[in-house]
Amino acid sequence: KQKLYRELRNKPSETKDGVPIDLLMNAGLAVDLPQLAQSGAAGIGLFRTELQFMVASTFPRAEAQERLYRDVLEAVGDKPVTFRTIDIGGDKVLPYFKGAGHEENPALGWRAVRLTLDRPGLLRTQIRALLKAAGGRELRVMLPMVTTLSEIRQAREIIDKEVRHLSRFAHHLPNRLKLGAMVEVPALLWQLEEVMNTVDFISVGSNDLFQFITATDRGNSQVADRYDPISVPFLRLLRQIADAGRDSGTPVTLCGEMAGRPISAMALLAIGFRAISMSPAAIGPVKAMMVELPLGKLTEIMDELLNGQSCERDVRALLKAFAEEHN
Ligand code: PEP
Ligand code: MG
Repeated sequence: KQKLYRELRNKPSETKDGVPIDLLMNAGLAVDLPQLAQSGAAGIGLFRTELQFMVASTFPRAEAQERLYRDVLEAVGDKPVTFRTIDIGGDKVLPYFKGAGHEENPALGWRAVRLTLDRPGLLRTQIRALLKAAGGRELRVMLPMVTTLSEIRQAREIIDKEVRHLSRFAHHLPNRLKLGAMVEVPALLWQLEEVMNTVDFISVGSNDLFQFITATDRGNSQVADRYDPISVPFLRLLRQIADAGRDSGTPVTLCGEMAGRPISAMALLAIGFRAISMSPAAIGPVKAMMVELPLGKLTEIMDELLNGQSCERDVRALLKAFAEEHN
């Protein structure tokens, strides 16, 4: 199989019926970077910057952050990379940072963009490191756990201020800056249009979105495995996000774990996703599925299924049968 995946690397990234798809990879540390060439990923769809903070014993200094971001940008070359601002708090605790102290529900607590907007020094340092590292090229920054438009606006103000500051000191700035939001808090679903008018791109964090939609702790397998993301209700929801992106001309990706499972990836393509980001090891298996996939045919079947009256149809079984029928 490894041989097959290596051969697939040089094949065009498209479905059997010629629909181009971007298979991106998730990463977070310098050790992940060689995987870019090995996997044949089209870029890094999610760079989890908090990992540098999690493996350190104190807050990484601005210089260390900048150095890592430079290494990442050098490794990707002309390919895109999306840096997510630190997503700490919740289950991602830093031993050297007290955070909110004891929280009854850490997943719903003081984490991610909530924390960095309350401690803007953290965000400012990170943004400055990113801006400096990306001098002369495109910089893509993404905010985790966004719940309101005002959080996006506040983060943008911090970014704008840093840009002004650095340009006053004649720093080499990025030639283009794109700001994105993760869609992983359900509240965003009812303000998608406004969000899409405010940011340059969005990425669905299906791990957290599914956790919050189904009210099941993603780290507790007793409840987390109880419900299937490959189900009519959740796929209807994801299709709505993909549709909203197409209608507003906003690029949409999905970067949760489901993107890396061939059967789930099939479903995502069939409901309209054209870029998905996954662990590097998943790129080969997903591409092997994709090059054999008659997407138009599956899209028709899925549309009919999701538009129908029954929300209890076994979508997973249907996808498996379709996959077997088409290799
Ligand atoms: C997600 O929530 O789906 C996601 C990609 O982010 P993380 O797994 O880091 O929370
Ligand atoms: Mg998340």
